[in-house]
Amino acid sequence: MQSITQKSLYERAASVLPPAALRATTLGVTKGSGSFLQSEDGRLYLDFASGVGVTNVGHNHPIVMEKAKEQLEQLIHGGHNVVYYPAYIELAETLIRLQGGGCKVYFSNSGAEANEGAIKLAKKASKRPGIISFKRSFHGRTMATTTLTASSSLYRKDYEGLLPSVYYADYPYALRTGLTEEEETKRCLERLDEIFHYLIAPDQVAAIIMEPVQGEGGYIVPPAAFLKAVREICDAHGILLIFDEIQTGFGRTGKMFAWQHFGVKPDIMTLAKGIAGGFPLSAVVARTELMDQWAPGTHGGTFGGNPVACAASLAVIELLEGGLLDNAAAMGRYFQERLNELKQTYPAIKVIRGLGLMIGMEFMTEEGHPDARSVSLLKEKALEKQLILLSCGTDKNVIRFIPPTSVSKGEIDQAIAVIRQCLAEIFG
Ligand code: PLP
Repeated sequence: MQSITQKSLYERAASVLPPAALRATTLGVTKGSGSFLQSEDGRLYLDFASGVGVTNVGHNHPIVMEKAKEQLEQLIHGGHNVVYYPAYIELAETLIRLQGGGCKVYFSNSGAEANEGAIKLAKKASKRPGIISFKRSFHGRTMATTTLTASSSLYRKDYEGLLPSVYYADYPYALRTGLTEEEETKRCLERLDEIFHYLIAPDQVAAIIMEPVQGEGGYIVPPAAFLKAVREICDAHGILLIFDEIQTGFGRTGKMFAWQHFGVKPDIMTLAKGIAGGFPLSAVVARTELMDQWAPGTHGGTFGGNPVACAASLAVIELLEGGLLDNAAAMGRYFQERLNELKQTYPAIKVIRGLGLMIGMEFMTEEGHPDARSVSLLKEKALEKQLILLSCGTDKNVIRFIPPTSVSKGEIDQAIAVIRQCLAEIFG
């Protein structure tokens, strides 16, 4: 418990941290367990943010802790540039099994670093310069991944002079264009074709990088037909398809990877966030023929594939395969049903969408404009009632629900009760 005179973590942070990172709350926390975080003043918060899709098996899962501790006793760092160690190899073997074989794995530390690796690999293997990304996408904060990202000009402001030969295609968002899903798919494919026609010939494009469900951009689920068509275009022109599964991966959507919902397999896949239950770890998973062209010394890093993170990741996979994937799918359906009940009462809720426990709730005003104000109020009021929510969307008008895959019906009901109360306060 904090004494009255003691400064909060938030108050202490102001004099030691730059304002660069946009924090969703001013909350200071000391502990986590399952779906809950404990604040520095001892209150329990229901956490439906999961550290932005990281603690996918819940905070401090006992099995993750046990496996990490066992590894801690054995070896904390070996250095994958220096030696081989069991957890690293075993995790690579396991990820290859999960991906269906025919691939190899390279470990790094963060999502951005994995995406950097993926585009370096695509360039190295194809010997082509161009990359196509999508509007509303988010791929990270390093210079190259800032270039790939196209969800906010704020992320790029004053950093321009970014990576050359990157082009941006349209990602289907029928709700906003007012078209049917079929018309929207066609429109986006025509835009892609325009890029090839006006800007860069397809045989100059190394890769198309996309999130199979856009995260930061608004929890937007594309039509399967769009992903299938992009796959066909890549095959026709020898372009590599990279799926950034950093937010969609590791059970978030009720399957291990989101591509499994669409039946469209990428050539290269990037993983991070939920991969190791909260430990920093990321991975590039790519077809063997591509990986075998990544000659020694052409990519690297000191900490990638840390033994403790790899051991934790193996525990996460065991838990997901042992029942949490099924729970995520079932709880995702239940949560969407309950949210849809709220939608009946509040017309400002335009749509509930998502896969598994990656659920977006988009708000529009009566005039049909993105309603960022209601989203901001909902987040604020929910936090006062000890429920942590995040928003997303290029217009900040989408609430994103990211509970752990271990979430229970009771916890979802608790969240729904809070949201219902907040909506009543906002809309009367
Ligand atoms: N790609 C996606 C889809 C993400 O959501 C994120 C982070 O939010 C990243 C990449 C970047 O990951 P990191 O913050 O670990 O660099």
